[in-house]
Amino acid sequence: MIGPAIYSNFLASSGGRAPANPLRVVSRGLCQRQPDTARHPRGYSVMARFVFITGGVVSSLGKGLASAALGALLQARGHRVRLRKLDPYLNVDPGTMSPYEHGEVFVTDDGAETDLDLGHYERFTGVAARKTDSVSSGRIYSTVLERERRGDYLGKTIQVIPHVTNEIKDFIAIGEDEVDFMLCEIGGTIGDIEGLPFLEAIRQFAQDKPRGDCIFMHLTLIPYLAASGELKTKPTQHSVKELRAIGIAPDVLVCRAEQIIPDDQIEKIALHCNVRPDRVIPAYDMPSIYNAPLAYHDVGLDRAVLDAFGMQDGHPDLRIWREVADRVEHPEGEVRVAVVGKYTQLEDAYKSIREALTHGGIANRVRVNVEWVDSETFEEQDPAPHLERFDAILVPGGFGERGTTGMMKAARFAREREVPYLGICLGMQMAVVDAARHLAGIADAGSEEFDHEAGKRRFEPVIYHMKEWSEGNRTIQRSADDDKGGTMRLGAYDATLKAGSRIEEIYGTPSISERHRHRYEVDITYREKLEAAGLVFSAMSPDGKLPEIVEIPDHPWFIGVQFHPELKSKPFDAHPLFEGFIRAAVDQSRLV
Ligand code: GLN
Repeated sequence: MIGPAIYSNFLASSGGRAPANPLRVVSRGLCQRQPDTARHPRGYSVMARFVFITGGVVSSLGKGLASAALGALLQARGHRVRLRKLDPYLNVDPGTMSPYEHGEVFVTDDGAETDLDLGHYERFTGVAARKTDSVSSGRIYSTVLERERRGDYLGKTIQVIPHVTNEIKDFIAIGEDEVDFMLCEIGGTIGDIEGLPFLEAIRQFAQDKPRGDCIFMHLTLIPYLAASGELKTKPTQHSVKELRAIGIAPDVLVCRAEQIIPDDQIEKIALHCNVRPDRVIPAYDMPSIYNAPLAYHDVGLDRAVLDAFGMQDGHPDLRIWREVADRVEHPEGEVRVAVVGKYTQLEDAYKSIREALTHGGIANRVRVNVEWVDSETFEEQDPAPHLERFDAILVPGGFGERGTTGMMKAARFAREREVPYLGICLGMQMAVVDAARHLAGIADAGSEEFDHEAGKRRFEPVIYHMKEWSEGNRTIQRSADDDKGGTMRLGAYDATLKAGSRIEEIYGTPSISERHRHRYEVDITYREKLEAAGLVFSAMSPDGKLPEIVEIPDHPWFIGVQFHPELKSKPFDAHPLFEGFIRAAVDQSRLV
């Protein structure tokens, strides 16, 4: 239950009407109170305190989640936070990496293609990530090399120390006067060769700052050996030893373990790693990632961090996280959703979609059971046996032709069987192609994305490669031979919603801003034909040239969006499209 006091405050401020999703409205006050001014609430400008987060022993320890949870806990004490990710790999950004390599690419409002950990940060703190919150070795080196070519270094020999490390330090400090805490997570594991310049840079950074402004938090694993029935601390000792050899002494140790770590083992870790016992924080598996802020608070993570800064412990306001955890743990029903995509073997490829569906469930107080259906499985078959048992179907984004026949079949199945459908980016484009082929009678409708061979056109391009568009009052142009990474419509764009449409009802506003990542667009010259056939263009770019949303009014819930709503959804503030989609799934589940 939402605390009666906050709920009644809310009711008073909303004229007594109960909100559709009280969680969202209440959470606005609690989790998104970050003022975007560079001034401290007490009226003076402050520099941030820095927490550097590293990982040791093994990868996949949940560093991103621990960082995000710490951000949420500091915020719950009224501090302004920002989270950053420094990745040692040599790609300039993850934009051109395969989803199988790297998982999802998280796009920011200002158009950066970043690491999926930025999604965690944003989901837990509500602070919109920016281009300057993610950097890789590749980006750092390319900046240094560009400068060298321009002659900026006045003929000096360019070296990792100081040139590369200085570039990293400058990056870390961007916007340091805007927040109280800057949390910087270093990707990879201690011992990786690529990580060394980053570790050297954070060591120097802490040295340059006044004493006590920077702390180091290290995540490790305490494995359990079943044969001897023991938890082993040696890998942690080695990892810390390696860190100390580089000149970094951790202030806080977060120890992931599958068994309870007894006090004597905590003492042992503390002694051997030179960290105070009350700053050795055990971290156990949790029922849901949304328990992380509460779970980390219970084991004393935020207290240990504040203590390391010499700050006093106050009382965080964790009501919203209790409410979220309660809704996750005690759902009042459940729905089954099929995600019909092409990267279904790796859940991380659709990380934000998975989370946004959970948020839709939280808002509607139901558990969302997601099944990943490979769209290639029914390319040649009837999709019905694969899709009949679901309450709703979602077709996510993707690139390339593989699997798209199955996506179109899924859209058609949902359309004809009146099953709620949400098509995101490629999922919208394939729903449009299906409608063009089977409703508007354009038998060879398709996307230009799949017509590679010059002179051999297989499709009528209902989805076409747009080469020019406007951004505010600027005209952006792109050509086919631009860099692969640089040819997309990326980041936040506005859209105007059609009055009286379902989408307007869902958002409750006449205009929206959503994040994009695509090269191809629905061609508006087909608008008349498609609308006559029942597929309405219910949102357009402000200049009226680019279709942003399509819907079928004569269907319980059929919506395609050219953008990625999943990137802006939060557990305490489900994106309206996901909230509406899951509500439609609940209605559908009651029909059967
Ligand atoms: N491949 C499509 C395009 O580039 C869709 C992209 C996506 O789904 N993110 O337009």
